[in-house]
Amino acid sequence: MNSLWNDGAAAACGSELALRAYTSRLLGGEKALVMYGGGNTSVKLRQDGEDILYIKGSGSDLALVAEKDFSPVRLDPVKRLIEREALGNDEMIAAFRAAQKDPQAPRPSIETVLHANLPFKWVEHTHADAVLALADTRSGEAHIRAAFGNTVLVVPYRHSGFELAKVCHEVFTRQATPDTIGMVLLHHGIFAFGATARESYERMIALVSRAEDYLKRRQAWDIPLHFPAALEGDDGIEAIAALRRDISRAAGFPMVMNVCGDLMSLAFARRPDLASLSQRGPATPQHAVFTKRLPLLGRDIAGYGAEYRRYLAENAPADAKRLPDPAPRVVIDPAWGFAAAGVNAFHADATAEIFRHAMKIFCRAEALEQYVSLSPREVLAAEIEYGGFEQAVRSRYALAGQVALVDQALASRERIDELLAKGAAVVGLDTVPAVRALYRRGDYLGVVCGSDGIDGALEQAVRRFGGIDLLFSESDELAEACRPLLALSPVSN
Ligand SMILES: [Zn+2]
Repeated sequence: MNSLWNDGAAAACGSELALRAYTSRLLGGEKALVMYGGGNTSVKLRQDGEDILYIKGSGSDLALVAEKDFSPVRLDPVKRLIEREALGNDEMIAAFRAAQKDPQAPRPSIETVLHANLPFKWVEHTHADAVLALADTRSGEAHIRAAFGNTVLVVPYRHSGFELAKVCHEVFTRQATPDTIGMVLLHHGIFAFGATARESYERMIALVSRAEDYLKRRQAWDIPLHFPAALEGDDGIEAIAALRRDISRAAGFPMVMNVCGDLMSLAFARRPDLASLSQRGPATPQHAVFTKRLPLLGRDIAGYGAEYRRYLAENAPADAKRLPDPAPRVVIDPAWGFAAAGVNAFHADATAEIFRHAMKIFCRAEALEQYVSLSPREVLAAEIEYGGFEQAVRSRYALAGQVALVDQALASRERIDELLAKGAAVVGLDTVPAVRALYRRGDYLGVVCGSDGIDGALEQAVRRFGGIDLLFSESDELAEACRPLLALSPVSN
């Protein structure tokens, strides 16, 4: 992995906080480091005679982070929280609020106490794929020591928040040396730190590069892309639409579903050890918020739901306010790779992208030694704590999770604008190639309906979004072709 540090861009930053936002975006722009709200960064600044920790706000995405997304908290009071024996999440968040210099600023990251107690001005935290491929193995700690020598400390798994801050602090206090430039958190991710923005950022890149080199030296880097021919399977678009309907019904709301049949996904779906490797759990708990703990193999949504309810009954804390729905978000099928579901097109794509990275981590860890994940209880704690965004999306967008097909799209921009604004995914159909670039956003697919006819267009639509719920067309032929798909819509009847 290469450093993307640019002297000109860094010099153009008007303040240290702007520089903090700049290197955070460098990290966030690299999906092999961190995705969709994962990871966090901070800088400690001296302002008006007091030390202020600027830490990324909870929920913001490192790829897009700006100065306003960092929350200023007084360093001393949040640092001293580490002296407590235990601290519940609600109490901890109240303490952050009390220490916040700007009450309008976003809620500070759940890892604020951890950042505050690291004696470095600049701190970075990611869920780097390459590091997880080492850390998520049976002998994870030994691999990390072999790859990084004494430059990093190894921290056992703890739930994010106060427990994690506490164990990191203990390990750092006892074991840090002048050579320490980072910490690897087993089954979670990695921290790097430094005295300058560049040093801290480039230490993260250097550590991840070392993990990559270690995997390459052990022939555990290249992902196998060869696979046996497809097994017999019903991969027609009606089968895909039926699967989306069943998943949506199990979830209790309509979902967009994205079918991923690229070479790597097909090769993974046809691995002889699929039933074992895919059913061990996520590479880092944050992934489970999008993918759930396990993907479904095959089509038995009811069986998956029954297993999931058992997982909740056995592992959910008694005081959990809200439990996740029992529908899978990832379905693996040797016939077509995998399908990723989400409350809208953005979330379905996020699920797909996270699972692509997860497959690489599974394959590399297995090639290195043996992929090992966390216990179900630990994964569920993260699912409960960070999940639940679906309801927020649904209350904001009336058509979230629904798919609309609009014929004569070039002449129907007003209608498409309205559908997109209400949260629907839209397939625009027209006879000219300009339809493809009519909108450049993930919830729009432009399809030229010409040479390959209506069947080809519907095939593209269903593979991209999982089905069709709303049809806007004056063509009888198109209405006829869509009838079976509309009958499979999760919002029909
Ligand atoms: Zn993390």
